[in-house]
Amino acid sequence: MRLLTSSLIIASAIAFVGGGLAALPWRVLGPAPAWAQGSTHVKTMPTTPPPAPAPKPRSETKSPAPPAPVGPVVADGASVSGDRSLTRMAVELTGPVEYQVFRLQAPDRVVIDISNVEFTIPPATGRNGIGLVTSFRFGAFAPGRARVVIETDGSVQVEATRLIREGSRGRHRLELDFIPASTAGLSESEIAAARESAARLRLSDATPPSPPPAAKPAPDAPRLPLIMIDPGHGGVDSGARGAIGVEKDIVLAVGRELERALLASGKYRVLMTRSSDAFVPLEQRIRLSREHEAQLFISLHADSLEARELAHAIRGATIYTLSQSASDERARKLADKENAADLLAGAHLPTEVSQDDVKSILFDLMARETNGLALNFRQIAAKRLRGSIQLSRDPQRSANFLVLRQSETPAVLIELGYISNTEEEKQMLSQEWQRKVAASITAAINDFFATSGSIFR
Ligand SMILES: [Zn+2]
Repeated sequence: MRLLTSSLIIASAIAFVGGGLAALPWRVLGPAPAWAQGSTHVKTMPTTPPPAPAPKPRSETKSPAPPAPVGPVVADGASVSGDRSLTRMAVELTGPVEYQVFRLQAPDRVVIDISNVEFTIPPATGRNGIGLVTSFRFGAFAPGRARVVIETDGSVQVEATRLIREGSRGRHRLELDFIPASTAGLSESEIAAARESAARLRLSDATPPSPPPAAKPAPDAPRLPLIMIDPGHGGVDSGARGAIGVEKDIVLAVGRELERALLASGKYRVLMTRSSDAFVPLEQRIRLSREHEAQLFISLHADSLEARELAHAIRGATIYTLSQSASDERARKLADKENAADLLAGAHLPTEVSQDDVKSILFDLMARETNGLALNFRQIAAKRLRGSIQLSRDPQRSANFLVLRQSETPAVLIELGYISNTEEEKQMLSQEWQRKVAASITAAINDFFATSGSIFR
């Protein structure tokens, strides 16, 4: 809760700055935010492989605008080096890029927004940090914009940023140096930058970054039930990270298998909240469900245990429904973690759902049949999944998940398994397992509409 409360403070601070967004320049070859200006002294890194060229003052990195890259620039490497007195983040690029750097707080992060770049870095890279960096994530953020989110141990100051040309083949290296922050506050330019990014994301709401969700109904069967499949996370929000894979990829693969199975049955229309590796804010997922009047919403996730010593022992799938108070402490923590997805990605979207709305939705749930239907589906899904994959010790639970706050659509969130369990992660990465899960959920949906279908319009 501390985390969420603090984020609200930042969100309001951003809202307070207001106006003049369109005038904010997208800086070429390096930002010069006020908080980073005037740092003439740049420490050299004792442990950076390969040896870093002597850092130049920022003004010298402002070469003429980069030539238009041929094809997309690829980020094919990222690393952290140094120690707590000076930590360096490096991103290896196949060409020059435009970028912008700003910090966010609660939790402390440094964000690098990069224009038109694709990542080919192994997805689990960045789980462990060094020095002031605890971990980092990377991926798509908004149309034409990718993002690296660097989580830091406390507040840091960005001592220097450099885009260095390497060799004659056009390769570049983007380097950021962090030192412990002497003052914690964000500058106005940082707040403005965060706000400008959020505006990009809102812009993308109108045109979802994933291919526009095509309902794919058979033309002669417009009233088939609409199933909304919601693969969690995506883009810069990788979700839980295992030894090999990441949650966002596993749940997208299962989502696609489920879409295929449902469409093949000829009994349903299907929409995906995302069908590619795109970042989609939680509220956009809810809005899609509402606007298309989905009759069942299935959010797909994978869980992870922080406590490594328990990781080998804990595994299995759990199906969650919405409740104001969680069924247990573990469920509450999980909901907090899933609800913080947008926050950790640095997407400060002003919330559309006020606390009053949330209360009234929860109240509505008591009065409506929606929650009863969700509970019904949860039970059916547990039964069907039990026949094909391992379930957790208590597979039917509830908690206050943002994405399940839907008053009209029965909604469940399935944690397919624990990516922190090596054996389970391997299974989850296999297509055979993914198909098995999709088949079981399809069977559950068939059962659900066979028993509850008559109540739908
Ligand atoms: Zn998740």
